[in-house]
Amino acid sequence: MKEKISELANIYRVFEEDTRDVVAVKACERGCSFCCEAAGTIDITTLEGMALREVMEKMPKSRQKLLTQAFRSEIRKREAGKTTPCPFLMKNKACMIYEDRPFACRRIYSLHICTKENPPSVSRQVMERADRTIKELQKLDDTGYSGNLSYIIYMLSVPAFMTTYMAGDFKPEEIMEFGKAHKIMINRMAT
Ligand code: SF4
Repeated sequence: MKEKISELANIYRVFEEDTRDVVAVKACERGCSFCCEAAGTIDITTLEGMALREVMEKMPKSRQKLLTQAFRSEIRKREAGKTTPCPFLMKNKACMIYEDRPFACRRIYSLHICTKENPPSVSRQVMERADRTIKELQKLDDTGYSGNLSYIIYMLSVPAFMTTYMAGDFKPEEIMEFGKAHKIMINRMAT
């Protein structure tokens, strides 16, 4: 798992190096949380969920508890058809895990200041490079799944699922029903 998490960081690093010059013209500024509040969904792979669990385990227990409540709240609101700000977004509009944020957040930026009417605009070059990176992430995690951050973190709190995943077993039938209901994608089937 350690090696895989380290490869994950390497994939992020190479993506950022490859896109640095194009992204340099972004309009995004510190304190803007448009994407964190209005993205609709922040999707991660199971491996990214494992990396985030490691980050959260180093946080004070009180913060871990608040995050668990925020993940549950996001799930409840999504079930009711609502979108919510990312559970990692703090009151001051900063990201609690900025250095460790998942790829969904690393790939997005905007060429203009965003509004509801004018959502983020990303260069085609970066979008295409990001699509390649997503395939790399899914390949690296081919016994895992992809989907909304709160659902993936919830899945990792289920002991039976965690045991299967940690053993490197691949049992998509175990999550088939849950996956269908919550748009969880099976990484191994990704093309
Ligand atoms: S993880 Fe951080 S950057 Fe990503 S959506 Fe959440 S608050 Fe924003």
